[in-house]
Formats: sequence, C-alpha cells, structure tokens
Amino acid sequence: MLKRTKIVATMGPATDDVEVLTQMMRAGMDVARLNASHGTREDLARRLELVREASRRAGKPIGVLLDLGGPKIRIESFREGRVMLKEGARFTLDTSLDPRAGTEEAVGVAYADLPRDVAPGDVLLLADGQIVLDVEAVKGTCIECRVRVGGELSDRKGLNRQGGGISAPALTPKDLDDIRFAAEQGIDYIAVSFARDAKDVEQARQLARQWGGDPRIVAKIERHEAVTNLSGIIEAADVIMVARGDLAVEMGYAELTGLQKTIIHQSRARNRVVITATQMMESMIQSPVPTRAEVSDVANAVMDGTDAVMLSAETATGRYPVKAVEAMAQVIVGAEKYQLSHSRTRHRVEGQFRGTEEAIAMAVMYTANHMKVRAIVALTESGATPLWMSRIRSDIPIYAFTRHEATSRRVTLYRGVYPVSFDVIGADTSARLYSAIFARLLELNLVTEGDLVILTKGELSGVQGATNSMLILEVRRH
Ligand code: ATP
Ligand code: MG
Ligand code: MG
Repeated sequence: MLKRTKIVATMGPATDDVEVLTQMMRAGMDVARLNASHGTREDLARRLELVREASRRAGKPIGVLLDLGGPKIRIESFREGRVMLKEGARFTLDTSLDPRAGTEEAVGVAYADLPRDVAPGDVLLLADGQIVLDVEAVKGTCIECRVRVGGELSDRKGLNRQGGGISAPALTPKDLDDIRFAAEQGIDYIAVSFARDAKDVEQARQLARQWGGDPRIVAKIERHEAVTNLSGIIEAADVIMVARGDLAVEMGYAELTGLQKTIIHQSRARNRVVITATQMMESMIQSPVPTRAEVSDVANAVMDGTDAVMLSAETATGRYPVKAVEAMAQVIVGAEKYQLSHSRTRHRVEGQFRGTEEAIAMAVMYTANHMKVRAIVALTESGATPLWMSRIRSDIPIYAFTRHEATSRRVTLYRGVYPVSFDVIGADTSARLYSAIFARLLELNLVTEGDLVILTKGELSGVQGATNSMLILEVRRH
C-alpha cells in the first residue's frame, strides 16, 4: 500500500551524509526543509546540493522548502553547545555577551532591545516552551532570571515572552536576502515565519517573483494575529503550516489540538495544502523508537487530513534520522488504513465550482470513489488539477504526469499525489497518447493490464489551465 500523507524532513548536521539522506528518501521522505535560522548561507547552499544529489540517487523527486528565520528572538550559543539548567538556579540573558560564550550562568541574545522589552515578573519561554524562566531584575544589558522549569538548553533556541506577542514585521532584512537566494536557486516552497496577515504572504510572493522565482508560499501559523487573520492568510497562501512550537507558546498549549483540526479543515476546504509540524517524533532525537503518544499524534494528524507531517530536530540533529522517517512512514500507512469511508466525503457537495478544472477534478474523484478504479492520471503543467483532486479524501493514487521537473517537485507535498515524468511529444493521436500513458504506468508497475484508470487532460496538451476532459480507460499493452 502506498503512503499518501507526505513527510517533510528538516536538514541539518545529522543529514549531511548523502548516503543517510538517500536512505531517508527511500524510507518515505518527500520534501526537504532547509531552516534559514540555523547555519550560514554556505551551509544552505551545500545542503541544497546534497538534497539534489540524494534525490538523483534515490530516483525520486524531492520538493525543497526554505523556512525563513523571521523575527524570532533567539539566544546565542554555548561554549559547549549545550548546558543543563537546574530548577531554582539563576540564569542571565546578556545582550552584550560574546555570542559563543554561553555557560550555565549566562548566555548572549542578539536582540539588543530585549532588556527594554521585559520587566521583573515577566515569564520567558525558551525552546518552544520547554524551559521557563522568571525575570527577577533587569540591569543594563543583563536580564537576571530564576529557572522555573529547567532542562537541557542548546544553541540558538527561540525565546518568547509569555502572553506578549512580537510586534516586528514578519520579513526581516535577512529574510529578504534569503528570498532572493531561494528564487535564484529555484527552490519550490518558501515558508514565511510569524506571518501576521495576508500582506506578509503577498510580500514574500512578490519579492520572490521580482528575483525571477515562482515558489509556492507557505504561511506558518504561529502567532496570535495569524489565528485572528486565518481566513485572509489561507486565501493568500498556497500552503499553511501548523507551526505548533511557537503557536503553543502564544496561544497556550491547551488549545493546540483544536486549533490544529480547525486549521487543517479550513485549509483543505479552500484548496490549500497543509503541513503539521513540531515535536511529532521528538523522543526519536535520542531514541530509536517513538513513544505511543507520538505515534498517536502523527496518526491523528493523518486522520485530520493533513497533507504532510514534519520532522524537525529528529532529522536535523537527531541520532536516528533514517529511523525517524521509517517510523513516521509506518504510522502514516497504519493510520490511513483506518480512514473513514472515503466515498462519503461531503467536500463541496454544496456550493459552486469556480471553473472547468475544478469541476473535472471533482467529477473524477466522485467517480473514482464510487467505481473500481486503480489509478487516476492527470496530465498536468502546473499541478493545479492534481491539487484540486487531492482535496477530496480517497484511497486511489493520483499520478501527476508532467514534463516539468518543477511540477514534479511541487506535487511531492500533496497528499495522495505522485509525480511521474512524462512528455506528450510524439503522441499526436489519442490512441498514441493512451498507449504511451499505459506503457509508462506498466513500466513503473503502477497498474496491470485490464485495470481501469481515469485520465484527465486538456484539448491542447502543453497549455496551462486547459484541463477540460475526463476519460475512463482500460489499460492495454501494445
Ligand atoms: P523554527 O521556529 O523555525 O522551527 P527551530 O529552532 O525550532 O526554529 P527547527 O528547524 O524546528 O528549528 O529544528 C529544531 C532544532 O533542531 C533547532 O532548534 C536546532 O537545535 C536543531 N537544528 C535544526 N536545524 C539545524 C541546523 N541546520 N544546524 C544545527 N541545528 C539545527
Ligand atoms: Mg523559524
Ligand atoms: Mg521548530
């Protein structure tokens, strides 16, 4: 059984070996996430090359997502890379400390205005809320704190003030530069961190276009304002990420599960793709097996209808990057077996279709779910038709047949959609076209002779936005 829900894996020191990365791809990784918050530009460029090399080796298109740093406040680094903070101990955040000189007593912070923004009595949350500090005094560049909840703290972890959102714009000067890099490198997805509203998303898109790129834009839902402006953000973005780390810090973790379900539902209902992220297999940073709670978390996101689940430190710095992907892939397949009856979807039962493409896509899925069809084949230029199709729950695979590598990489994020490279050139009659498609499906062992497949295409293949027909065909060998 094919895995329908996709896996996004974050790149980092633990994936810097092309062999490891190739194994991750074979184990079910679909999209590589490069986090612009960590490492240098050279690290990013090197990792991008590595992803492309491993993708060739694995013989599998891999989408690339560049996650912008955004206006996140972070601590600097420790002499030893990490420290243990004990409950009740004193710990100072010092904006004038050498960025690499952190110890158990103090660590640097790049944001010089922090001492002005916090006051005694404030509660500071570090590392997505895992460490909690009480501010006792502010003296010059030093914020003196008492550890309320301790634990291990490592380099460049995020820092938030409880209850108080950040006021900074979503795109920092560094982000603008990273957008240019992404555009020039042909990166498939750009994620806007701490998006406040539709304008932040639109600005990122415009900038990428200015630099000659055409990436799809991911809006990370991780601050209070984004939840308030959810509808506008969904409209402006191509992809929504439920960025649970900062979202839980801003909204309180008790609301997280409800928010996740709401965001996934609303995104899919409006033809947007959705990623569920943060701490999904967190214990696998250290352990070769996930906890039962993590298994449940991944399975629930799958059952909520997410397009993709994401791994962060599990693959970036974890001890078991390949095992984390393997475990996630198994849990996905296990959860997908138990999905409620697909043919009962009520997606768009009411309401008008916006155009021919959507109408065709909906007709295909309705037919496929009510008939013994082995596969859906969509001849596609941009991936738009498979995207419409994949918004409807189904267990029938949707093959995006395309001649564009960028489209192959883009659809790797869509649930239940699999790219197949295919060129219609030479297929000048319908009969030739069908036999070329059958040959490709048979060659990849995706169907057997006699299977029924549904094909969608436009009148003039090679023209965008022209999908206007649907055919039900029986696979034959010529
Ligand atoms: P974000 O808020 O954007 O998710 P993050 O700090 O949580 O930022 P993740 O990409 O979610 O970063 O990864 C989780 C952790 O894994 C990081 O905090 C860091 O410790 C580690 N990590 C991730 N990418 C790298 C990298 N390229 N180099 C070193 N460590 C990394
Ligand atoms: Mg970030
Ligand atoms: Mg994170």
